[in-house]
Amino acid sequence: MKYSKNEELRASEERYRSLVELSPDGIAVYSDAVFVYVNAAAARIIGAKGEMAEYFIGKSVMEFVRSDYRDLFKEQLRQIQEGKTLGLTHYVFIRTDGSEIDGEGVAAPVTYGGKPAVQTVIRDITERKRMEDALRDSEKRYRSLVEQSPDGIAVYSDRIVLYVNSAAACIIGAKGENPEYFIGKSVMGFIHPDYWELLEERLQQIQEGSTVGLTNYVFVRTDGTEIDVEATSAPIIYEGKPAVQAVFRDITEQKRIEKAREELVFRLQEIDSIRNEFIALAAHELRTPLTPIRGIVDLLCAGRLGILTNKQEEMLRVARVQSERLQNLIDDMVDLSMLQGGLSKLCLALIDMAGLIEERIAFFRDSFDKKGLYLRSELKEGLGLVCGDRQQLIKVIDNILDNALKFTDKGGLKIRAGQENEMIRFEFSDTGIGLEQDHLERIFDPFYQVEPTLTRVRGGTGLGLTVARYVVEAHRGKIWAESAGLDQGSTFYMLLPIECL
Ligand code: ADP
Repeated sequence: MKYSKNEELRASEERYRSLVELSPDGIAVYSDAVFVYVNAAAARIIGAKGEMAEYFIGKSVMEFVRSDYRDLFKEQLRQIQEGKTLGLTHYVFIRTDGSEIDGEGVAAPVTYGGKPAVQTVIRDITERKRMEDALRDSEKRYRSLVEQSPDGIAVYSDRIVLYVNSAAACIIGAKGENPEYFIGKSVMGFIHPDYWELLEERLQQIQEGSTVGLTNYVFVRTDGTEIDVEATSAPIIYEGKPAVQAVFRDITEQKRIEKAREELVFRLQEIDSIRNEFIALAAHELRTPLTPIRGIVDLLCAGRLGILTNKQEEMLRVARVQSERLQNLIDDMVDLSMLQGGLSKLCLALIDMAGLIEERIAFFRDSFDKKGLYLRSELKEGLGLVCGDRQQLIKVIDNILDNALKFTDKGGLKIRAGQENEMIRFEFSDTGIGLEQDHLERIFDPFYQVEPTLTRVRGGTGLGLTVARYVVEAHRGKIWAESAGLDQGSTFYMLLPIECL
């Protein structure tokens, strides 16, 4: 019987020993602060070079405890000697290669080999601590990001504010309230009642786990003033509880500017349409008396109302030229006001541009010949069709041809055209008086003439190119001028989309 009790004891001891040996936690027993037993896991924790458990036997425990933890160790040792078991304690251990590891352990008094000793269970928590530190760091970074964000950030749960950053306090607090002021208050107090329903809708979405995109609200500040804000909201867990995080921005100023801009555009459009109406009306009023005046001058010039003296004939010729000029000016004004009214006034058809240009060349041929100027064209075959307003495009071509004629005294004009991407590119190069860099763009402004006195001699209203640009742009094309300078000739370019609109 006695024998079998011994057997039992040995068997239980065996079990205990193998449990201790195989434990994934480090288990060590020391007596008089010197190791008397170390299991394999403990040897792995403290031994950095693969030392076996036996290596540690007889070594001082203190050797493996970092100096700033030694006092704690001594104190705990004292308590254990008094028979106390110690709870989890954090230590920094020094391994056999001098590196440090974070460990935590419990310790209890035992008897080992008949002597009082301490049994300690230790665990390497370096990795866990590293993760905890990383988490703490990332939390810190997130917090400072939130704190310093120029956007207002607030967290609330059950419509009660849990957190606001400084920017949020500034946006909502009109009297310099601190973020703490808002904690525990209802968010409804800061949202205009007209927007409560919208908020509830958004909260529903958030409860279903969605993030809510930019939404406009009107907030009520602590002094009762109202501001426009745009906000995004998302569900988050805050201090372990589901909550809503809202990020918002004061857009009152932005909205005010937008509104002012819209009003300005509206006013400008109004002014534009009044101006167009006025021009159309004025042109009509000017045209009405001009028609009979021109008729009478023509009759007089033709001698139908009696024989004229040379002086009278000369005077009438001046009157005729001037009334023609006035007619042109009125026509250009009407064109301009009509084009400013928009595209809808264009009368569209498919136009063979090569044919149209040849037709206009034929029309101008005589005038160029009379001035001793050449007028040549190099138009590539199959130029393509343009969807446009024939009469308006004629005006553009005629204006360019007329200008080349007016401003060229030697040489002439060469017209080239070819396809470029989806466009037809026209080039009208004359050998005339040329244009200085400063004028290249301005000649498209209304009434702009480089040399008004010269142009007066050569005729013109200063509106031709303005009308041309309107027409070309209404056809989704482009027109511009290039010149190497005075007396270097000018080239007018025009791009028109093939079968546009
Ligand atoms: P205008 O009726 O005066 O010709 P435009 O608008 O057609 O009005 O042209 C504006 C001004 O551009 C002209 O007065 C002239 O100074 C300049 N210009 C236009 N075409 C040419 C050209 N081919 N060569 C030199 N200058 C030109």
